[in-house]
Amino acid sequence: MQTQTHPLISPVLGTQRHLTSFHYGPAGGQKVYIQSSLHADELPGMLVSWTLRKRLAALETAGKLRGEIVIVPVPNPIGLNQRLLGHMLGRFETGTASNFNRSFHDLAALVIPRIEPRLTGDARLNLLAVRDAMREALAEQTPTTELESQRLALQRLSYDADVVLDLHCDFEGAMHLFTNPDLWPEVEPLARYLDSKASLFALNSIGNPFDEIHSFCWSELRARYGERYPIPNGSISVTIELRGQADVTYAFAERDANAIVEYLTYRGVINGTPAPLPPLEFDATPFSGTEPLRAPISGVLVFRTPIGVWVEPGQEIADVVDPLADRVVTITSSIAGVLYARQRARFTTAGQEVACIAGAKPIRGGSLLPN
Ligand SMILES: [Zn+2]
Repeated sequence: MQTQTHPLISPVLGTQRHLTSFHYGPAGGQKVYIQSSLHADELPGMLVSWTLRKRLAALETAGKLRGEIVIVPVPNPIGLNQRLLGHMLGRFETGTASNFNRSFHDLAALVIPRIEPRLTGDARLNLLAVRDAMREALAEQTPTTELESQRLALQRLSYDADVVLDLHCDFEGAMHLFTNPDLWPEVEPLARYLDSKASLFALNSIGNPFDEIHSFCWSELRARYGERYPIPNGSISVTIELRGQADVTYAFAERDANAIVEYLTYRGVINGTPAPLPPLEFDATPFSGTEPLRAPISGVLVFRTPIGVWVEPGQEIADVVDPLADRVVTITSSIAGVLYARQRARFTTAGQEVACIAGAKPIRGGSLLPN
């Protein structure tokens, strides 16, 4: 195992942060990149990273790693240190209101000016040529702020990984994941090992979140050059939502780390026989098929349906109780699907999104990501 440190730009006099990456296994084979808690207040993944580190150290000692596995347990030290009136604020940088999981460099845009003369009829060589171009372009970037330097440091660690796993969570959530539909055959085994309750296909959500910049660049390059040159999927990139913010337990961390180890064994990065693939309870669905349920009035939010279950149209998901007007409004689902995420606070404002259902039919367009 090798430990690397990556200094960030000092934002103020007397302050200096850095990232730490842990590198297990030999370089030259497949590369896997795993980070947790990019949204710094989403902490189930940080415990999974720590659990994975122990598993990988033992596997490395036993000589069972065939590829390099990079773990970045704390990719956002800026967000970890943000507090207001006793509350942790880990999703947006307080100085700029910038979401920590947006605005990464668009890798396709970086390589397109230089890649075409290097492409050939060999898909493997094209993959290497694109990665070379990515490395060169990322090396040319000059960040000016601490946040830009954090984003760039993460991209320099991950751009050439065959598998990228970005560990997040929802407010309250069932296990679910987001990926590029082009990658589903490669991701489906991971969804099975994780017991994912909703597997959502994002069609370029706009905003350059971390997992999408790794996968969509290959889709985009294929759309642009694919008729003349074979372009493979260079990165199997997945955002894994490890349930909800309060779901930080040793039992969950063991289970989730184990699912990732099984997946990496299945992919041949870890030597061994993977566990049989468990069934996938619910089919993958388009992100554009999700129905956000909104509260029509303000009041106390009382959920009536648990997380992670299938609901039919008309299912009563939650009540909003207005104690002043002695009024109760019930929020129902208009589609069938899995109730995969819920609001955490039990008070809602009028119009606020309080839960989300993964339906099979696309019903939304435009940018689908929340703020
Ligand atoms: Zn997140």
